Amino acid sequence: MSEVKFKRIIDNFNDAPFIAALIIAPSCSRGCVGCQNQHIQDEEDILDDPRATGEAIRDNPFWDGIILGGLEPLDDMENFKQLMEVVRFSEVEKLMIYTSYELYDVPLNIVPRNVRSLYIKTGKYIQDSETVTYSLRSWELELASDNQTLHLLQRNSVDEWIAAPVIKCRKNNSTKS
Ligand code: SF4
Repeated sequence: MSEVKFKRIIDNFNDAPFIAALIIAPSCSRGCVGCQNQHIQDEEDILDDPRATGEAIRDNPFWDGIILGGLEPLDDMENFKQLMEVVRFSEVEKLMIYTSYELYDVPLNIVPRNVRSLYIKTGKYIQDSETVTYSLRSWELELASDNQTLHLLQRNSVDEWIAAPVIKCRKNNSTKS
């Protein structure tokens, strides 16, 4: 049986336009200077059955969707496939992926069909960059460096991904990671 690997699953209220189960990816090898998440790599990995993990998320009425982030979900493509199995069994319609890679690196073809709205934050963290804020209806997301981008893809009736508008509203002078 294939297992999925992650660090933790926690509530998240801010990093997507829905209340989410944040699944913290197990590793990151991207090596961004100034990364503030490296300590997460010291946590024990959890190995679990993707079906059991997904069904537990499905059965929690508090969560409207899933975020994959914390570390780098695309670091290990075999594990990313298992994370997509979790998403499939969770039956969520909303998924957000925080990746330091670019949109063309995300294997959209393996995102399960239950996902209808796919939010993706792309781009590496650049220390001392200006931050940038994106807006989507009443939700705003501040990204840590101004090369990073928020994308929204939605499935149409024949299961193709269509890019929906998001607004890059401003650059900010402050920095964060
Ligand atoms: S991709 Fe994110 S977690 Fe990985 S090194 Fe860069 S800032 Fe840190």
